Amino acid sequence: MNDRKMYLQNIKRIVVKVGTSTLTHESGLLNLPRMEALVRQLADLHNQSYEVILVTSGAVGAGMGKLGLKVRPKTIPKKQAAAAVGQGILLQMYEKIFSEYGKTVGQMLLTKDDFSNKHRALNAENTFFELLRQGVIPIINENDAVVVDEIKVGDNDTLSALVARLVHADLLILLSDIEGLYNDNPSTNPEAKLIPFVASISDEIEKTAGIAGSKLGTGGMSTKIGAAKIVMASGTAMVIANGSNSGILQSIVGCKEVGTFFKPKEASKLNNKEW
Ligand code: ADP
Repeated sequence: MNDRKMYLQNIKRIVVKVGTSTLTHESGLLNLPRMEALVRQLADLHNQSYEVILVTSGAVGAGMGKLGLKVRPKTIPKKQAAAAVGQGILLQMYEKIFSEYGKTVGQMLLTKDDFSNKHRALNAENTFFELLRQGVIPIINENDAVVVDEIKVGDNDTLSALVARLVHADLLILLSDIEGLYNDNPSTNPEAKLIPFVASISDEIEKTAGIAGSKLGTGGMSTKIGAAKIVMASGTAMVIANGSNSGILQSIVGCKEVGTFFKPKEASKLNNKEW
């Protein structure tokens, strides 16, 4: 049995993060068929007794549609205003599509303090566990409309890793616009090769993402490598995969060789498995 299969065959709790590049068109507006396909897959995982938590971007895109904006806002107040309008719309859309599959969702808007402050972290953890216990699918985003840089997690790759660590998830899935982590930036190097398995974050891996002084990579992968470091250390596996591939979530939990798999350092605290 291969390593990936060994880790994935008994998992239960999964955090799925979907990025702006997956959820929105180039115009910045929401890609509705993509959103529907994602919800259908998540509902199906839930039907198979997986616990699922969704970390989703897209509030600004949803706000743009409602406000009639044709291009993504650039200033912070404009972005925050679009996020304020859009977050409600985004959740309403998720609520509508998930309901069609008989699923209940609950929104949690989090920020850095909810992880770094012990009391707030415990409170957030308890809310997560209660939602999961009641069969609810938590939908998470950063509280973008009010949060300023100093108290921000800053990006949803990191946010989803902090959520995965908080709830002792077995697996974090980062859905992006690319098949996984390559050994060089595929948008500038056509020879770049997909790395299917990462056992630890070596200097070489950091270099592929443009970290550690390398000129390679645009930094698009750097927050994902950062997320991998957080979850691998706390016993959670991670997969980066392409959110536009149909049935991608099913392929991942079905142990198919898709995307890039990051092996956790220690056993998941949740299931106390012998890895
Ligand atoms: P998302 O919005 O889904 O979180 P990003 O656009 O931030 O995704 O990051 C994905 C992008 O990172 C890819 O489309 C690719 O252009 C870029 N990238 C840079 N270096 C790499 C690499 N080594 N492997 C894969 N993608 C890379």
